[in-house]
Amino acid sequence: MIERSLIELEARLFAVELVQETGRHLRAGADPLNYSAVDFVEEIRPRQYHKDTDSLADAHGLLLLCPLCFERAGTSHVHAVIVPFDERGCPVVLMRAPDGKPVYWKASGTGLKDLVLTPSVRPVDGCCWHGFIGSGGVKPGHAR
Ligand SMILES: [Zn+2]
Repeated sequence: MIERSLIELEARLFAVELVQETGRHLRAGADPLNYSAVDFVEEIRPRQYHKDTDSLADAHGLLLLCPLCFERAGTSHVHAVIVPFDERGCPVVLMRAPDGKPVYWKASGTGLKDLVLTPSVRPVDGCCWHGFIGSGGVKPGHAR
């Protein structure tokens, strides 16, 4: 596989923000497959927003085009890969292993250009890409 820069893979660092918002939601106990207008209630609930950031210090995770599918198909028909970072105080769990445990990677550097993630990256779902970002012989800020 060719080593590519995170910029080429359209990578973005993001931070998760929970915002309390009023909205119409199915009431507790309503059948989600058989409901009517009376089953909705107006409630305040937290809504999750992912905001781009240039600072690794502020980031909760990385989003990039899958390096394996990018190599196979270019930018068309390529799915995104999300890589949650450990020890960042993210207000939600972004990824879980099949056993239900949260999945995280250790991130170091200052931003996309020198990002290093450990251990190797293997998304929980998606395709069969199992690679490295800035480690395992791959330059910081690059993936393979
Ligand atoms: Zn893929």
